[in-house]
Amino acid sequence: MGSGGEHEPTRAANPWDWWRGTDELWRWGACVREIWLDDLADDATRRATRERRVAELLRHAREDSKFYRSHYRKVPAGCTDLQAYPPVTRAQLMAHFDDWVADPQLRRRELEAFVRDPSRIAEPYLGKYSVWTSSGTTGVPGIYVQDPEALAIYAALLTMRFEFGPTAPEPWQVAAMPARMALVAATGGHFAGVVWWQRQCRLHPVLASQTQVFSILQPLDALVAGLNAWQPTFVASYPTMLSLLAREQCEGRLKLRPRSLWSGGEALTAADRAAIADGFGCPVLEDYGASECMQIAFGCRHGRLHLNDDWVVLEPIDESGRPVPPGRPSASVLLTNLANRVQPVIRYDLGDSVTIDRSPCPCGQRRPSVQVQGRRDDVLVLDGAAGTPVRLLPLAIETVIEEETGVHRFQLIQTARNALCLRVDAPGARRRSVDGRRAVRALARFLKAQGVGPVDLKLDDCPPEVNPVSGKLRRVRALRSPAPAR
Ligand SMILES: [Zn+2]
Repeated sequence: MGSGGEHEPTRAANPWDWWRGTDELWRWGACVREIWLDDLADDATRRATRERRVAELLRHAREDSKFYRSHYRKVPAGCTDLQAYPPVTRAQLMAHFDDWVADPQLRRRELEAFVRDPSRIAEPYLGKYSVWTSSGTTGVPGIYVQDPEALAIYAALLTMRFEFGPTAPEPWQVAAMPARMALVAATGGHFAGVVWWQRQCRLHPVLASQTQVFSILQPLDALVAGLNAWQPTFVASYPTMLSLLAREQCEGRLKLRPRSLWSGGEALTAADRAAIADGFGCPVLEDYGASECMQIAFGCRHGRLHLNDDWVVLEPIDESGRPVPPGRPSASVLLTNLANRVQPVIRYDLGDSVTIDRSPCPCGQRRPSVQVQGRRDDVLVLDGAAGTPVRLLPLAIETVIEEETGVHRFQLIQTARNALCLRVDAPGARRRSVDGRRAVRALARFLKAQGVGPVDLKLDDCPPEVNPVSGKLRRVRALRSPAPAR
């Protein structure tokens, strides 16, 4: 890990990438037109489009996915009522992976080998698919395969739905402008955000020359130095990281003049948004996506997240799986992705607690908006070796433990200022102890590299505590949740 602001080089394009870039541009153009028409359409036409897409997806799943054919055997053939179909979980889909996917060339074992190899990040799988992984908070790692059509739809939704604000470049201008972009993310693994950016850079060499990817695993001062040297006009990261960077900017160590910032991957609170926007003096764009569907909702200038309901169906549910009406927070939400065919995601239990808002938004957008609750862990504040506080991102801690030890179900609890207790979930006491000790060692190395002073790091034999309602695991818990940034 370099000290002068480590960043990941973006790959050079080859002629195949160029061809794929052209192919994607055609697809993107067609999708942009479809989205544009849907934006102009009246409510009845939009509903009809969505119903047609739902029916097509259901038919496709029953015909081309062995898993769904069996899962839906009790639903009458030709039924187009989505709610008549039984939901699915990630554990279920991953257990039947080879039968779930609609392309028999996709095999879980081979894909697992692919995502273990960091040198293959963003490589087109079988020449056309994008593949990414996610551990998620349920502890079952997922592998997601996106077909070229889905990727074009995500790109077109990004282009058409986001308001980039008066001072920010429109996305189609970005390639022509001397815009410098920085993605500050968990790198080194096949995570959706990184795969997406690296892929865009391979397809569009101009973009590659304007983009640098920075790892969240490096110490904050090294990251600040790297960003100061690169001087990005556009920074994309997680809200917890943007909050840390806003503090660095306010205190004068970070000296950027970005035109806009992009926040994703975790929930952005109103307080965070205000602090980040004030700190940098520019708008914060937000989206709501998941590994299962990159573009679920898009942020508007009034701080609401409007659903891409032409390509996504969200059904909020309570603890017993019954529908929850708009205005009330749900226990979980069922996601249906109408864009991706190769790996159909239909009534998939996403685990997020959401509240649907159908009231009119001052931005004029007629699509309903969604509020997402509790989609993030805590930032830990520990004493540094030099006496100054060191702030650690939950995503960085999670990445270190997952990537270096393969442990996904764990919980790190701060019990005193420089005291941490780690709980690991694994089958059998022996395995739990071996995994736990490896995770403690990886964590100790990471804390030292971040400049944290002596830490009392204990392994606790108790299993991680899961939220009794959502079944979700909060993997990093601070001493007490830090007060909002302002
Ligand atoms: Zn709005």
